[in-house]
Amino acid sequence: MARKNEGCAVGIDLGTTYSCVAVWQEQQKRVEIIHNDQGNNITPSFVAFTDKQRLIGDAAKNQAATNPENTVFDAKRLIGRKYSDPIVEKDKRLWPFKVIPGDDDKPMVVVNYKGQQKHISAEEISSMVLSKMREIAETFLEKPVRNAVVTVPAHFNDSQRKATVDAGTIAGLNVMRIINEPTAAAIAYGLDKRTKTVGERNVFVFDLGGGTFDVSILTIKDKVFQVKATAGNTHLGGEDIDNRMVEYFVEQIKRKYKVDISGNPRAIRRLRTACERAKRTLSSTLSTNIEIDALFQGIDFCSSITRAKFDEINMKLFEECMETVDRCLSDAKMDKNSVHDVVLVGGSSRIPKVQQLLKEFFKGKDLCKSINPDEAVANGAAVQAALLCEGIKNVPDLVLLDVTPLSLGTYTTGDIMNVMIPRNTGIPVKRTEEFGTVYDNQTSASIKVYEGERTKASDNNLLGLFSLTFPPAPPGYPILVCFAIDENGTLSVSADDQTTGNKNQITITNTKERLSAEEMSRMIKEAEIYEADDRKFLRKANAMNFLDDYVYKMTNALKDKYNRSKLSLTQKLNISSAITKATYLLDDDNQQVEVDVLEAYLKELESLFGQTLDING
Ligand code: AMP
Repeated sequence: MARKNEGCAVGIDLGTTYSCVAVWQEQQKRVEIIHNDQGNNITPSFVAFTDKQRLIGDAAKNQAATNPENTVFDAKRLIGRKYSDPIVEKDKRLWPFKVIPGDDDKPMVVVNYKGQQKHISAEEISSMVLSKMREIAETFLEKPVRNAVVTVPAHFNDSQRKATVDAGTIAGLNVMRIINEPTAAAIAYGLDKRTKTVGERNVFVFDLGGGTFDVSILTIKDKVFQVKATAGNTHLGGEDIDNRMVEYFVEQIKRKYKVDISGNPRAIRRLRTACERAKRTLSSTLSTNIEIDALFQGIDFCSSITRAKFDEINMKLFEECMETVDRCLSDAKMDKNSVHDVVLVGGSSRIPKVQQLLKEFFKGKDLCKSINPDEAVANGAAVQAALLCEGIKNVPDLVLLDVTPLSLGTYTTGDIMNVMIPRNTGIPVKRTEEFGTVYDNQTSASIKVYEGERTKASDNNLLGLFSLTFPPAPPGYPILVCFAIDENGTLSVSADDQTTGNKNQITITNTKERLSAEEMSRMIKEAEIYEADDRKFLRKANAMNFLDDYVYKMTNALKDKYNRSKLSLTQKLNISSAITKATYLLDDDNQQVEVDVLEAYLKELESLFGQTLDING
């Protein structure tokens, strides 16, 4: 994660459901949200595998209903987690694709690609989405993009952050920095406001996206953006709302038609798509219909849902959001009256009930909707990316002071969590503490590093462990332990025996969830193979199209009276046999034809008939 100056750098919001890429435009002195090949500013975080090719983004999402088992989404919900994590266990039941435990309990998605079964990690799926975002930026900027600032939910833990960096590395990106999504959104919002106001502003960011929920309270004064506190849930968002709607309709179908569609991935996928659409519609209307032809066993499903019913089935989730808002303010020791602006970020913040509850919480305060909730995060990330590139002069000067979302500490006797860095401490930060050995003649001490808020150490998330050895020592032998968090929110821990000068240190890389160096280089190689395959597929598709076009023109040349009169008998015979050969090569059953063979044949045709048939163009 070195600081790189050459080339341009982009900001990428790697979302659970949609991703967005943006760049600082030096000439225009503003951020440009980059649209994809479909003209959309956001790209579905979907990857699909077929027996012919790999698809990423809109193309993958558009074919999800017909290829549900091999269309992967929600990688962000898996990244940095173990297979046995109860959250993975629960999500798995609703995914149409299969997830199995891999080495060291790592969840692996099972897909069929070109007739072969493949086991793919969440990092790899995310890296594919990131490489798509890079490609979108490269097409727009017409130059290679290597550097990026990638955003993560403020509540991502150490392993989820590091796994995201790994995903960037596999995608061939230099992840210059990882920043928190609500902080990035605050940059986008704050820069806009900064020109219009003076003095200090307390900005509350409410970020409810597709899969994650974050709230942050920041103080913006001149060029300093200081996060005071953050809270959230890495597993609460629009998809949970969709899931509740799916469950509601599955029950309704059970009652009405006496069938259970929950075991049918295709039916569930189609129902989920219809629910998501209905949910969006309910943000602007009071009731909507759901119609799905031939949903299951010939049933044409038709139903309706009111906004009131929608609110009722999701009320628990909405209340959970409000409890988090409350916790964040009390962590920041700030009264709700001192909040100047409440900023809405993330697609799900459009839900009227959410807005109503938030408005009530802040005693009727108007919510700020001036920034596009889908683009704000990428916008802020692009500003941060430009700031990290030397040579860009016009980017607004700002200093970002973020906090760590979870408490970090060590195991001490009696399974007690000894907090070294409490949650919501400003980063970067370094804290040291002296520990004493417990037994007589002790020759080593093991240091277990945890994150989380529970008093019992083992109830928290074990990030890593290491040991320090020393000559036999009496109880109370001093060991200095140091915790350091860098600007990315990633942690390194060291232990120091001050008597002998022995030192041992870990950047928490030896957790089971983190990729080893070998795994990483294997995945980078595989990513290159996937990309080469994609390029080859595109080349072949182009060659097939050209050939198809040729066949059409050759056939017309033979049919057309004027053209026919100009052709000699030999030419006519040559064209007929060329049509037969080309038709054979284009045959669907003839998939094995190599692209080189097609291209060589195209060249041959061009040199034979190009002029005569005027079919070069
Ligand atoms: P994000 O991760 O910020 O792109 O948010 C995506 C989530 O926002 C998805 O779950 C969408 O279904 C949801 N979403 C987008 N627009 C709306 C809307 N108008 N009403 C409700 N939810 C929406």
